[in-house]
Amino acid sequence: MSELKINTFKHKINYLEPEPEILEQAAKIIKRGGLVAFPTETVYGLGADALNAQAVKKIYEAKGRPSNNPLILHINNLAQAEKLVYLDDRAELLMREFWPGPITFVLKAKDIIPLETRGGLDTAALRMPDNKIAAKLIEFADTPIAAPSANTSGRPSPTDFEAVNHDMDGRIDMILYSNNLNKNIGIESTVIDISEAQPLLLRAGGTAKELIDKVLMKNFNLKLAQPDEQSKRRSPGTRYRHYAPIIPVKICYFKDNNFINLQDNNEWGFIGLHEPDKNFNFKKILIFSSLEDYARELFKSFRDLEAENLQGIIAELPEDESGVGLGLRDRILRAAGAL
Ligand code: AMP
Ligand code: MG
Repeated sequence: MSELKINTFKHKINYLEPEPEILEQAAKIIKRGGLVAFPTETVYGLGADALNAQAVKKIYEAKGRPSNNPLILHINNLAQAEKLVYLDDRAELLMREFWPGPITFVLKAKDIIPLETRGGLDTAALRMPDNKIAAKLIEFADTPIAAPSANTSGRPSPTDFEAVNHDMDGRIDMILYSNNLNKNIGIESTVIDISEAQPLLLRAGGTAKELIDKVLMKNFNLKLAQPDEQSKRRSPGTRYRHYAPIIPVKICYFKDNNFINLQDNNEWGFIGLHEPDKNFNFKKILIFSSLEDYARELFKSFRDLEAENLQGIIAELPEDESGVGLGLRDRILRAAGAL
């Protein structure tokens, strides 16, 4: 990565009633090809005008992201989708059902989307975020906003101002941040490819797989399939090590009231849903009371624990794949380098 040094403006913005003058300032930056980090209901995004190839290149530069890993275009109304991708009845039904929300649809792209935004592919990924700041920013900028997570490539995604600032200060034009933390999902959107007859689950995330399957089954007698090797190549993001702290992450399981694979180490931290026995000597223990809380706090916990000078993190891999469980498992496994 080259050493950029930009003066990064930082603005707190109201979550329920985002101040128009701040949105205006941020939108101006997007319109002239700059970069603005902003909150969404999943994690913080690093936004640029999705239709401006030069602006999009700056995202890859600021993140150190491989240029063949395509970006998600964020929109705030269905008419915008129509301009960007080829829609059919199935796509429209799914969008109406799940948007705004943490689900991204991959569809055949129209030529208006620069190749830089879609990593050279003939498809593009679209999402309508369920967050007023994000929606208003798209509206004010009057363009779809390409936005991957606002972290250095490979690192845990940012779920608060401190994490965005740590990775992006001096590299981007502006950081918008708000304090609404308890509603955030904490992991990224579910990505499904509906560009061909068989819908594929490319990435588990904030929208439960079983909910998508229910709608697909009821309306089209279909279920999501796992991508095979060939279609995996169509989702370049799944090829890289992701979400990883600098210190190693190891996995343990909790089954029949016992931990499996739990190693005692007083230089390590522990995160999970169940408290380890008192005779374990972890330096730091973080316990979450639900899958949702675990998902919401996962990336922040990774960053907090690595800042504590620990040698590593033992993460409990939850068994429950329902709701946000499948996405949470995916993030933990990837952080541990096990996927
Ligand atoms: P990020 O925004 O960094 O959380 O990552 C976006 C994810 O969407 C990555 O896994 C990308 O590979 C995936 N993605 C974006 N566009 C496409 C596309 N056209 N086809 C398949 N996957 C995509
Ligand atoms: Mg990311």
